[in-house]
Amino acid sequence: MKKYSHAWIAFMAIKRLEVIASTTDSSILKDGNDDIKKQAQSLVKWFKNYRDFVIEGAWYPDDVFKDMSTSHIVKYKPSEEGKYTTFRGMPASHSITNMMKKKSPLYNQPYDITQGNCADRCEAIAHSIVDNFKILTKEDRGCPIATTNNHIALRFFILSHYVADCHMPLHCDYRPFSDEKGVHGAIEKKWEDQIKKSFEIDVDNNRFNYDPDGYPLQTKSVTPFVQSVMEEIATRQYIHSWGAGNSSTWDYMSSVSQYSYLFSYYLIPLTFQNTQGINEFMEQTEWGQHFDDYNKMIFSDAIDSIARIWLHVWIKYKNWAK
Ligand SMILES: [Zn+2]
Repeated sequence: MKKYSHAWIAFMAIKRLEVIASTTDSSILKDGNDDIKKQAQSLVKWFKNYRDFVIEGAWYPDDVFKDMSTSHIVKYKPSEEGKYTTFRGMPASHSITNMMKKKSPLYNQPYDITQGNCADRCEAIAHSIVDNFKILTKEDRGCPIATTNNHIALRFFILSHYVADCHMPLHCDYRPFSDEKGVHGAIEKKWEDQIKKSFEIDVDNNRFNYDPDGYPLQTKSVTPFVQSVMEEIATRQYIHSWGAGNSSTWDYMSSVSQYSYLFSYYLIPLTFQNTQGINEFMEQTEWGQHFDDYNKMIFSDAIDSIARIWLHVWIKYKNWAK
């Protein structure tokens, strides 16, 4: 994913938290989740003061860290003699998982993991955020080893980048769509073009213009795909648990990568060659033929996942601080 797509997704994850914090609709948050709601409220309030670095933070991994070939991916390969055969649990609201359990011919079939450590990276950043909050609480302000809230916010946005990347199906598919001839970049450019068309961007200052609520200001030409993602995150049920069998960011992100892998093989047939261009991709693949429908699933699931992981991190710190 590209710069403004990442930044927009991070903003929408804050918005998603705001939905969780303020909803009175039990189809969005089931009764009995008052503590989750309160915690989401306090996290949104905290973000209000420290959201200035969304674009820098969400773009830091590609721009500065440059660990694309390891931490932005987990590459899967279907293989009859594969080392792994099991698929992990996920919250029932994750749209890609639901579809793949029903429709993927590779579900519950053996596979190998050939490259990448995105789940490890996400787990490590999640820990570092909790650690930084603890350091911030323990040390006096201005102490040379103390961190800052702005720095911690930056880390939240960095984390959002890796979580979002893992939802991009091609980041979990070992086929070579990412090299120069491949369609990977062209798909992400189509996403980026839609974000740029839908929101006012202050290019000189490298930021979105904001609406009165502090979110990216919409233009008059918001695209149907962008609109559909905003509607989805405002109405989808929020399930705080990580899914059956999962108890950490690592577990959860490992699940995400498994269903992203299945999704990629579902969307792009084995007959599609890497040398074929974006026009053929749009005409010949399931993904290309229903481009915005599948894009909506990818973006909405990514935003929901980021909100879930952030909230777990926040609650972990808050429980420590009690
Ligand atoms: Zn990336």
